[in-house]
Order: sequence, then structure tokens, then C-alpha cells
Amino acid sequence: MPYKKIRLILGDQLNADHSWYDHVVSSVLYVMMEMRQETDYVSHHITKIVAFFIAMRRFAHNLRQCGHAVHYIALDDPQNRHSPRENLKALAQIHPIEAIEYQLPDEYRLDCQLAELQGHLGIPVYAADTEHFLTSRDELAVFFKGKKHYLMEHFYRKMRRKHQVLMDGDRPLGDRWNFDNENRNRLPERVEVPEPTVFRRSEEIREIEEMLRRQSVHFIGRLNPDCWYWPADRQEAMIILGHFIEKSLLFFGKYQDAMSQRSATIFHSLLSFALNTKMLKPFEVVRSVEDRLPASPSPEILAQVEGFIRQILGWREYMRGIYWTEMPEFGRLNYFGNHRALPDFYWTGDTGLNCLRHAIGQSLEQAYAHHIQRLMITGNFAALAGIDPGQVDRWYLGIYIDAIEWVEITNTRGMSQYADGGIVGTKPYVSSGNYIKRMSDYCSGCRYKPEVKTGPEACPFNSLYWHFHHRNRHLLGANPRIAQVYRTWDRMDAGHKEQLLKQAGDYLERIETL
Ligand code: FAD
Ligand code: SF4
Repeated sequence: MPYKKIRLILGDQLNADHSWYDHVVSSVLYVMMEMRQETDYVSHHITKIVAFFIAMRRFAHNLRQCGHAVHYIALDDPQNRHSPRENLKALAQIHPIEAIEYQLPDEYRLDCQLAELQGHLGIPVYAADTEHFLTSRDELAVFFKGKKHYLMEHFYRKMRRKHQVLMDGDRPLGDRWNFDNENRNRLPERVEVPEPTVFRRSEEIREIEEMLRRQSVHFIGRLNPDCWYWPADRQEAMIILGHFIEKSLLFFGKYQDAMSQRSATIFHSLLSFALNTKMLKPFEVVRSVEDRLPASPSPEILAQVEGFIRQILGWREYMRGIYWTEMPEFGRLNYFGNHRALPDFYWTGDTGLNCLRHAIGQSLEQAYAHHIQRLMITGNFAALAGIDPGQVDRWYLGIYIDAIEWVEITNTRGMSQYADGGIVGTKPYVSSGNYIKRMSDYCSGCRYKPEVKTGPEACPFNSLYWHFHHRNRHLLGANPRIAQVYRTWDRMDAGHKEQLLKQAGDYLERIETL
């Protein structure tokens, strides 16, 4: 059957509800490809590669079941040229292709590649919307035009109003926009956490793993079929959403910042992979969660639901807006001029800092860590130690199941490393050991002591915290949000300050042995 039109589907465009699929058109060929350019642009966790390929293969299968024609190019297909341009060119030589369509990619790198297709192929190329996000690429830039700073809270309130989420006319439900202050609890021992949904698919996992090994794809981490939390299609993604609403939603806000060795996932939703591959639409997730509110919700219940909705309606769309407004420069920002190499223990988990050992070990095992582990353990340490943000970015981009540049780099280089000098956030997210002790159960099993500031048992986060503020004072000293930190530093005894800086200097010098 000669096809006249190709529609390209990228690996994170698995939106079965897209209007492309409303009708079967016999002249349209859908094309999907597993490519080395995607497996190799950083060292990925094997779980991430396998989960993407399983979901892509399932998507192709489901499209065929609905009567669409699909050409799927597997990684080990001898005809695979491993680039969209070359694969499409080869297909255009077989079929009388009159047009190529693609959905707008979410990564700058791919956006540039696909924008050049028409010039290379000499065939008309059209871009369509992904019909996934709530905002267009430039909506955030328009919203903040003429303002000095982006502020997530302002953007979020606009989104609440615009989409009438948790609103009572023009007022926020419960007369409050934000319940963050209530949402800062440690996980008590008596509180049981739900087990995440596990999808049993050892056979598919093994098949793709073998292919990756045969093709000598470099990867990090381990496969763990007993902790396979990643959906293969929309139906499975809906199961995760249902499970979250039933078991976790009403505890989400309260414990969203808690960290525990008892559970990697606590009350988190595990929806980022399903959302970022577009199996689920952000708005359907927001509405499903909002629909669970009783007619007159108590502030306690509202706090849980608002805490969750803020992440999707607020942070997720905000980060996307920042990405498209600030790229490609954003990817080069290094506000503090950091150049220290990422310690080897980020790749092995082999360190005496129990919090890092746990968060990194869990990430290598499951390709997952929740937000506060990423922000306040691995990210916090990298920022305090002055690690090169490019290396930090590559680590996050490779290791996490949900890592796609638009949401990874804004969170890492922006929120976590403050390498953007305050585009994403208003101050660096860094802390001493005290915060980690308060929010986790990590410190009791550690060789270091969170309350000790200097000496062999001193928690490295403590002296590094002061070292960070001291060495970056010329860049941070005028920030009113951290004025109190500098007031405390200035009041400290000179001898103690010297000891702290010496301690931090020693830790930095032998960082690989910590
Ligand atoms: P939940 O805690 O259940 O949150 C619900 C959903 O809200 C998530 O699925 C996600 O879609 C959204 N969300 C929550 N926080 C954020 C945020 N800060 N930015 C954007 N969306 C958010 N998220 C990614 O999807 N991909 C990444 O590559 C990524 N890298 C990160 C790197 C760092 C350094 C940090 C601090 C955060 C990063 N995040 C990233 C944000 C967040 O950590 C993950 O979305 C979340 O941990 C995914 O787990 P979950 O689905 O259980 O989330
Ligand atoms: Fe981490 Fe310090 Fe606590 Fe050890 S004592 S777990 S290094 S915060």
C-alpha cells in the first residue's frame, strides 16, 4: 500500500487521545523509531530505556489494533539509520510521500532537528500541537512580560482562575491559595504507607534488555522487575491514577516533604512517567483529583488536594514555560561558576553519608526518587559542594524514569542548583543537616551526626552550608530572602567561623572519600 503522508510519533508522544487518531486514513503511515541518538545522548538508567521502549511498542500495537498503519523501527532493525531525518528519507524513497507531519517536540534539541526536516527532505513538513499541556510554549513569557521576576505563585493563581480549579468564583476554595506551611511533616513510624502498583512484565523487560546488551548500549542502574511501577499504556496509567487517588491523595500534602528508608514512594503518585510520555493529560489528572473533594471540604482535606494540584497545574506548566522562554541559554547557565567534578559515589551510592547513600542507591535501583530526595539530598549536596551544573544535569537526565530535558533542566539547573541565578526560584534550595534530620529517618543510621558542626563526626551538610554562603556572598548577599542566614553568620564567633570553613575545605578536598 503506497502511503502519501507520514506522521512521526516520538517516544514521549504516546497520547492515544490525540486528534490524529480520530479517524483511520488509509494514506497515512504512522512512524515510530527507537534510536541510538535517544539512548546515547546521556548515560540512561536501563529501567528508563526499557520502560520507554515497552510503552512505545505497546502504543504502536494499540494503534494497529485500531486499524492505523504503523511502521515501527526497532533499535536492532538493520534498516535503522538512528536519526529521524535519515529514517524518514529512507521511507520517502519507498512511498510517494507528499507531506510529513510531526507533533511539536518538548525538547529544544529535537525541536531544532525536526525544524530542519523540510530543507533536508524537500517534502512539505507540518508541525501539530501535542494536545497535552494546558499552556502554549510562550504563555508564561506573555504572562510575565514587563515583570522583573517570574513567580510560580502568581502563575499558579492565574492557572487556577483560568481553568476554574479549586475555585469558588474568583476566590480560592477555602479562602486560601496555599497550604504549604501545613505540608511539612516528617513521616511518623505509626503511619503506614501504601505499596505502589507493580506491573508484572518480566518477559518484555528481558527481551528489551537482551537487545540493549546485544547492541552494546551503555546504561547505568539495575533492572528491578519486582518494582516495575511504570505503565505500558494509558489503561495502566489510569490504574496508577486510581490507586493514588484511593490510597495516597488524602495524605499527599501532609507528607510530601518527608523522606524515609521505609518507603521510596511514601504517598507520592508515581505519575510523572505517565504524564511525561503523555499517556495521561495533566488536566484530566487535576480534575480527577479535584472530583474527589467532598462538597464542603475541611481545610485538612483541601490542603492535601491543593498540595497535589499545585504540582501539576503550577510547577509542571511553569517549568515548561520557563524552558521555552529561556532555552537554549538556560542550558549553559552557571551562576556560581562551579567546576568541581560530580563525585563518583553519585554513580555507585558508595558513600558514608547515609542520606546520599540511600537516595542514590534507591535511584540506581528503581530509577525513581521523590521530589525532596532529588532537591534536598542529591541536589542540595551538589549545590553546597559546588559541582559543575552540566555534570549534575547529565546525572539527573540519565537516572530518572521521568527525565526529559524540559522538566529536568529547569528543576536541576534552576530550582535545585540555582545555576540560573534566580530565574526559577527566588533563593537557593540548600540546607544544613538539621533539615534532613527533621524531615527524614536517615541520620540515625549515619556515620556522621547532624548536630555536630566540626570534627570527624560532623555532618558534612553543616559546614558545607556555611561554606556555600560564605564563598557566594558576592552573589547572594543582597537577596532579602536569605538575609537572616547572613545575619546569623555575621553574629558567629570568628574562631567558630574559621573552624567551619576549614572543616568544609577538608571535606571538599577529600570529597570522594566521604
Ligand atoms: P508527585 O510528588 O506525586 O507529584 C505529582 C506530579 O506533579 C508529578 O508526577 C509531576 O508531574 C508533577 N511535579 C511535581 N513536582 C514538579 C516539579 N518541580 N516540576 C514539574 N513537575 C512537577 N520531574 C520530572 O517529571 N522529570 C524530571 O526530570 C525531574 N527532574 C527533577 C530534578 C530535580 C533536581 C528536582 C528537584 C525535581 C525534578 N522533577 C522532575 C520534579 C519532581 O521531583 C518529579 O516530578 C516527581 O518526583 C515525580 O514523582 P511523582 O510522579 O511521584 O510525583
Ligand atoms: Fe545526611 Fe548528615 Fe544526616 Fe548523615 S548526619 S544522614 S550526612 S544529614
